Amino acid sequence: MSFVKPRLRAVLFIAFSIMSVIPVLLLGWWAVDSARENEYSAVKEKHLLVAEHLTLALSRYAQDTESILEYISSSPMKITNSAHYELLWAQNITSIRFFNSNHVQQVGISTGNGVEPTPLTIEQLKTVDENSTTPQTIFLPAQLDGNGQPKILIITPAAHIEGYLVAEMSTEYFLKLQEQVKFGELGHAAIVDQTGNVLAHPNPDWAKQIKNIAKVSSVKRMMNRETGVEQFYSPAKKADMIAGLSFVKETGWGAMVPQPISELEDRIEYIKNVTLGIGLIGMALAMLISWFLANIIARPTQQLALLANHFKVNDISSESVLVTSHTREQHELSTAFDNMIHALRSKNSQLLYHSQHDPLTGLANRKLLREYLNQAIVEETPFIFALLDLDDFKDINDHWSHAHGDELLIHVANRLVDITGQRGLVARIGGDEFAIAFNTNISIESAERIVEELRNKLTLSYQVIDETLKIDCCCGLSRYPQDAQNRSDLMQCADLAMYAAKVTNNTHVQWYKPRMRADLNSRVELTQSLREAIKQNQFIIHYQPKVDAISHKIQGFEALVRWQHPTRGLIYPESFISLAENTGQIIPLGRLIIDTVCKDLAIWKREASRTVPIAINLSVKQFDSPNLASMIIGSTNRYNLAAEDIEFEITESVFAKHSERVETILQELTSFGFEISIDDFGTEQSSLSRLKDFEFNKIKIDKAFIAESDCNIKAAGILKSVVNMGHTLQLPVIVEGIETHKQLSLIQSLGCDQIQGFLFSTGVDFPTAVQMLERDVIPPAPEVTGQLTQPKPSKEFSHMVTE
Ligand code: C2E
Ligand code: CA
Ligand code: CA
Repeated sequence: MSFVKPRLRAVLFIAFSIMSVIPVLLLGWWAVDSARENEYSAVKEKHLLVAEHLTLALSRYAQDTESILEYISSSPMKITNSAHYELLWAQNITSIRFFNSNHVQQVGISTGNGVEPTPLTIEQLKTVDENSTTPQTIFLPAQLDGNGQPKILIITPAAHIEGYLVAEMSTEYFLKLQEQVKFGELGHAAIVDQTGNVLAHPNPDWAKQIKNIAKVSSVKRMMNRETGVEQFYSPAKKADMIAGLSFVKETGWGAMVPQPISELEDRIEYIKNVTLGIGLIGMALAMLISWFLANIIARPTQQLALLANHFKVNDISSESVLVTSHTREQHELSTAFDNMIHALRSKNSQLLYHSQHDPLTGLANRKLLREYLNQAIVEETPFIFALLDLDDFKDINDHWSHAHGDELLIHVANRLVDITGQRGLVARIGGDEFAIAFNTNISIESAERIVEELRNKLTLSYQVIDETLKIDCCCGLSRYPQDAQNRSDLMQCADLAMYAAKVTNNTHVQWYKPRMRADLNSRVELTQSLREAIKQNQFIIHYQPKVDAISHKIQGFEALVRWQHPTRGLIYPESFISLAENTGQIIPLGRLIIDTVCKDLAIWKREASRTVPIAINLSVKQFDSPNLASMIIGSTNRYNLAAEDIEFEITESVFAKHSERVETILQELTSFGFEISIDDFGTEQSSLSRLKDFEFNKIKIDKAFIAESDCNIKAAGILKSVVNMGHTLQLPVIVEGIETHKQLSLIQSLGCDQIQGFLFSTGVDFPTAVQMLERDVIPPAPEVTGQLTQPKPSKEFSHMVTE
């Protein structure tokens, strides 16, 4: 599951916004809340104050009325006084009546016009009767009079008649008072009497009908003589109300000042809206600042990422700009990044150098060479490519040390560069492999001259860690575009030419020829079939007898391998031995040959009356295997053979190089008791001096001397001196390749010990060899005209080893 990671900018923006919006919201909430609280408490105070003022006014009104009535009640005479009427009228007393102690009305006057007032209703009389014994003035609850008008009856004792005075008071004063109180939309005042009868109310009907609202909670509280603030539902206004309420101590009347709560909420709503507006502006500002800040913080990071990507896509050496920075830390980061890029650039150029150069010699490596060749090929300009390989460089490492090898390589590289100069690019493309891509203006003749000069200089001796070393090299040359149109083919052509130079005697420099590719193909094919042949043991051994020079008695056989190819017939060793040597297959093949010879010998020893030593050829490459001696000894023991049953023929090339491994192997073989002959003696004069250091038992003179002795007096002379040299070394001398009686006489006259040649026998199969030995002596073949031959190697392979 993959998560889309949030952008830093968004995260910062959200974080900053939350951080700034939360206080704004809290502040807004607090402002609205405290506004509500203030409003409510202010309203409460205001309403209570108004209610208290109302009740104060009512209290004074009641007191004034009481005083006036008490004054009037003290003397009946005063009733006729019009000034009293006015006084009473001013107090809204519409009538007064005097009753004696028997509750009989004595006199009754309407204060407005001085006439008989409208008689009291039965209800009024009833309430009067109930309260007539009051010792002081009392204000009765409001009642409707005979005219249906709301009236408050006030009873005051009248001592002089031992009765009492009953005054009718209209609700005029209450109505006026109530009318004065108006605030807000629906804020008003309401006045009730001590029983909850409405005396004054914005609803005039209620006042006219003296509606009893005693059930209303605030009225109840007033009736209980409480002062305070009350919230309640008003059926008249059909709204929740808040009211200040108070009561008149003297009469128990109550005044309340209600207002719909919604009116307060309107105000609060307004405050809320204003706060919300300010809050929103604050939030917008905060978010704007947050966005700005988030950008400031995030942009350099984003720019760094873009820059890093830029370097990923483009070359690190491409131009870059310093990342914008707004803070010191960002500036430090930007500078650090810039420093890092500079460091990377320098590391990059170092890396580039190392990726293109050989660390040991400092020459261009294979990669740089490839690029160089590709470039030249893209430009389609003809040029020459040379491949150089040092001969037997491995021996330097093996015999001396890797330090010697390394230093020698450095010297070689320096010589190559010195000679090539500006005329081409010199590269090291393998352990001991060098290449030169010549400049396009170098002609074939110049390239040939340079290569010749190179070889001459390279073969001069080197002073390497206190040793004087020498090395030779082979060079293959190819041309663009004649030989190949692309780099890898061109390199392969040079490689093929170099291989040809290596396998061709005395030719160290070769130009590529198309035939070489065909050879390579057959070589590859043959290598594969050779490998298969070794697996399936398609090899047989032919034995060629060696006879005593005088008596012609068989004194030994030489084992010669043949490849019994399933389709091509018998293939001779000249066609495959050097291939087996070059591909390393000589090791398993050699093992197979030794095993076969041992097996034949074991049969021979079991069945024949006498045996002679069998000579086995050991190729110089077989000495690459350090366990050669132990393998041979192992086979000998396995077939219960003795050391005298087998001899080995090795060529002088085995001693050509000083090798501890070769010395050890030879030491092991001779100490086991095997005799060793020097094969093809005389062909490598140069190594003669080294022979004295080794122990060996026979000298076998190369057949070339015999072949040439027929027509070449010089060759006969050399043959003679070589035989003499062998005898001087006190070693038996064998001569091979005797084909004619003339050669036989010459050899006999030179005093050679043993003879091998077609004049006596070619190599023959095992049963024939057994029969031959039974006969003991081989007479030389009768004299024939022309040369004696053995079957020629298969044509298909014949050219390969002679190349
Ligand atoms: P080599 O060791 O010099 O073997 C002698 C070669 O001379 C043999 O050729 C043999 O047939 C040939 N020869 C003998 N007498 C005459 C003669 O009168 N006239 C002419 N023209 N040739 C004569 P072959 O069998 O073709 O072997 C060629 C080379 O192959 C051998 O030369 C040897 O170097 C190598 N070889 C043969 N068998 C083996 C083997 O088992 N192991 C290894 N490592 N090399 C072998
Ligand atoms: Ca031989
Ligand atoms: Ca030989």
